[in-house]
Amino acid sequence: MKKQFPSRRKFIRTVSMTVGGIALSPLYSFGCMESSQKSQNDQNKKLGIALVGLGGYSRGQLAPALQETSHCYLAGVVSGTPSKISDWQDRYKIPKENCYNYETFDEIAKNPAIDIIYVVLPPSMHKEFTIRGAKAGKHVICEKPMAMNADECAEMIAACKKADRMLSIGYRLHFEPHNMEMMRLGQQKVYGKVLSIDTANGFTYGGDPNAWRLKKAMGGGPLMDMGIYSIQGSRYTTGEEPTLVTARQAETNNPLFKEVEETISWELEFPGGAKATGETSFARNYSYLRATAEKGKFEIEPAYGYGGQDGKTPKGPMNFPQVYEQALQMDDFAQCIMQKKATRVPGEMGMMDMKVIDAIFRSVKSGKKEKV
Ligand code: NAD
Repeated sequence: MKKQFPSRRKFIRTVSMTVGGIALSPLYSFGCMESSQKSQNDQNKKLGIALVGLGGYSRGQLAPALQETSHCYLAGVVSGTPSKISDWQDRYKIPKENCYNYETFDEIAKNPAIDIIYVVLPPSMHKEFTIRGAKAGKHVICEKPMAMNADECAEMIAACKKADRMLSIGYRLHFEPHNMEMMRLGQQKVYGKVLSIDTANGFTYGGDPNAWRLKKAMGGGPLMDMGIYSIQGSRYTTGEEPTLVTARQAETNNPLFKEVEETISWELEFPGGAKATGETSFARNYSYLRATAEKGKFEIEPAYGYGGQDGKTPKGPMNFPQVYEQALQMDDFAQCIMQKKATRVPGEMGMMDMKVIDAIFRSVKSGKKEKV
């Protein structure tokens, strides 16, 4: 029977304790989630977050999560739509001086109430707003995919370094216990070396035919949107970086997919010998991450959604609580800033995924195996 959802607040406390008990390799370590020995001041202070882009993810997930966080809160918003700003002001009691549009955004530099900007725009806009945010002296969380390609990611990382600001990617699953267990089992070779991975992530697109998710120039398509989770899953289960990629794109007659792929599948080769097959699609509903190791199989399904994860190992079902991943992710970043510690989900991690995605697109074009 499926686990029941107790209160979100309870999940946050429960998982803080659960994940603290799991130790991982430095590649995907648990950052500063449990290092709470800092001054009482740090513990009591909440950092102000401004959401940049008030679309589905901000509205449906991040703003509600920010009502549950302990170390950060929803302090401001940035939007190109004035009516959205007034709605959000009313709903979340956001003062007028903490609201910006894309033109006035840089004035955020003068606002001490905003510590972090969270870029939740279409991917083609991530680079611009991350760099402008860092230049304004703010720490940045940027949604996945980090940018349009790995070169843009490198520019974003350099800009944040230059401004001495921290950069994190919205990889919420690094705070989700079933996914964290896949990291632990794979990286610590609990069932021996991981030999192969099979993973897929996608959904049947039924949305607006003119949305950015179907526009190549805005960073649309299932690989950038959903496949990136399968790439992440393969990387954090093996704890290695893939070196070679072979990929193919399925043919489609569906007029929705004039610019972006409908379905792409790939194989990643890892230096330790493991291979990961992956698939992503805007025409199939799936979400799984399966690993075969020398001494058994372990897997999660659903793997990548907001909660609802389930999994099993050779020892039986995984028995972890459902958590509020976004609240844990944002709280962890706020603590990392206050305690001057590295985030477990840095820009470099986002750039590595984009290197793999770049190689997948190159392989689709060339029809050959490509180096990452
Ligand atoms: P959305 O389309 O619902 O919202 C996008 C926002 O950007 C809207 O408020 C829109 O007004 C604004 N925008 C500004 N300029 C725009 C333009 N030229 N064209 C289109 N929109 C423009 O998208 P979303 O689902 O909220 O996704 C935003 C980002 O968040 C994407 O990078 C996406 O991949 C990411 N995301 C992450 C998760 C996650 O689980 N981590 C989930 C959903 C989305």
